[in-house]
Amino acid sequence: THGHYKLLVLFSVSSGGLVAFSESQTNSGKHSAELSQAESKKKRVVVLGTGWAGTSFLRDLDVSSYDVQVVSPRNYFAFTPLLPSVTCGTVEARSVVEPIRNMIKKKSGKINFCEAECLKIDTANKKVFCQSNLPESLVGNNDFSLEYDYLVIAIGAQVNTFNTPGVLEYCYFLKEVEDAQKIRRCVIDCFEKAVLPGLSEEERRTNLHFIIVGGGPTGVEFAAELHDFVQEDLVKIYHSVKDLVKITLIQSGDHILNTFDDRISSFAEQKFQRDGIEVLTGSRVLSVSDKFINMKMKSSGEVLSMPHGMVVWSTGVGARPVVKDLMEQIGQGKRRVLATDEWLRVKGCQDVYALGDCATIDQRKIMEDILNIFKVADKDNSGTLTNEEFKDVVEDILVRYPQVELYLKSNHLPDVTYLLKDADGNERKEVNYEEFKSALCLVDSQTKSLPATAQVAAQQGTYLSRCFNRMEQCDSKPEGPRRFRGSGRHQFRPFRYKHLGQFAPLGGEQTAAELPGDWVSMGHSTQWLWYSVYASKQVSWRTRVLVVSDWTRRFIFGRDSSRI
Ligand code: FAD
Repeated sequence: THGHYKLLVLFSVSSGGLVAFSESQTNSGKHSAELSQAESKKKRVVVLGTGWAGTSFLRDLDVSSYDVQVVSPRNYFAFTPLLPSVTCGTVEARSVVEPIRNMIKKKSGKINFCEAECLKIDTANKKVFCQSNLPESLVGNNDFSLEYDYLVIAIGAQVNTFNTPGVLEYCYFLKEVEDAQKIRRCVIDCFEKAVLPGLSEEERRTNLHFIIVGGGPTGVEFAAELHDFVQEDLVKIYHSVKDLVKITLIQSGDHILNTFDDRISSFAEQKFQRDGIEVLTGSRVLSVSDKFINMKMKSSGEVLSMPHGMVVWSTGVGARPVVKDLMEQIGQGKRRVLATDEWLRVKGCQDVYALGDCATIDQRKIMEDILNIFKVADKDNSGTLTNEEFKDVVEDILVRYPQVELYLKSNHLPDVTYLLKDADGNERKEVNYEEFKSALCLVDSQTKSLPATAQVAAQQGTYLSRCFNRMEQCDSKPEGPRRFRGSGRHQFRPFRYKHLGQFAPLGGEQTAAELPGDWVSMGHSTQWLWYSVYASKQVSWRTRVLVVSDWTRRFIFGRDSSRI
């Protein structure tokens, strides 16, 4: 209507005005044609997933250079480290999620979002096939496909049941926000059932037996949260059954929190013992039914059967079906998760990147690559390299594999450290590369796969967005060591993970933390560190305010035990 109005006014003035109007119309038409041409020239980036990896990629991506399409079955980002707190109402579910459309708004709306699940990736035709999970009752088709120039797979992983019978049917999981809400309701159900009249004491005990399978950070944190919920809130309102509650943590390994420092592991075990949480280490779950959990003790071979009110399964993650299907297509069928190189490119296909829990950087291949650099440099196969060749080799290796530098800087190999100084251009010396090769084999044995954590996923997302932001510039000006210049192999530095430490909340306002530089801290003061880190890590001021107010509400009024 605004345009219409302008047209009428111009008709009522002189013909000059009319000319001016039509000229500006033509110009703007030309301009918009140019714009749309430029728009259509933009490379299409399809991003699958709105978790840690996907959102940190989107947050830092320069959206003016790409046509970005995001696909995810949930239209929000979930702050997973606080999910255990959601299970007991310490924090509300809505406080740990941020609508993805709020994030898009911050990018001037230049990202398209589809609430759908990707069902198939066709790397040969550069297409993804998706299906929306919106209600069928709404009109229109739920299936669609999208073409891409670059595909970013950040769809995370799914719970791993290790094909244990009964787990899918009778266990609760703690992976998504809905899972945490289901657990919260189930805990209250167990208490309400236990106080109904007409139950025997044995039945009340069974209903109040909470079993957690998996002694990793998530299982341990949930056990601690549940213990606090029971002791601080529920025993006061379900007074008659307060002595019948039992929490059992089952772990297949010899210790809980075995990815943490030994001091933290034993601190957690001792604390749980004091709190009355039973920890069964060295036991493998054989099956779960609606009433019992069956397991085998590794040491004695004895098979135990325990009645339960609720079992929470938290034993690690595995690949999602769409990723498994992709792995079959590209010859990675035998692997557990997608393998990428250190630039996060999926091996075996073009222009596909994978990050976060759905992928892992293939360390074995890195080692082969390193040795290959030596072989290529050692043209006459003599087993020795000239100073010039060696300098080049070391330069390549250090640019591509920073972890080598880290290892060599440790005091194990003084000779090699000296040689690295050579490579900086000071003194030079002829070397036997066999020596260096064996040093690298040691590096290999020291290099572990990256853990499936939010920290890794978020850093990978940020790294990849920086690569994408520089892609055009780097295509025109390739950099990197001489041997790869121009070959397109070496546009960016490889991904380098920076470990910032990890927390293990243990309940009773105590937390254990492993901080960079082998620093271990445990107890009440670390809990305050945990509060401040987690408040500062929130993705928006909205969630930060919500989370902090939930903590305050809990301090003042306790947790809410309504079953809603
Ligand atoms: P996710 O965050 O899981 O995101 C995957 C995204 O992909 C989601 O948006 C999902 O909806 C979407 N998706 C799924 N399937 C499809 C499909 N077919 N098509 C399109 N999209 C799809 N890590 C830490 O570092 N510190 C912690 O304290 C910590 N605590 C945790 C506590 C709990 C309870 C849990 C479950 C995990 C915790 N983690 C923690 C691990 C951390 O959450 C994961 O490592 C991290 O979420 C991985 O990020 P991601 O982006 O790869 O996957």
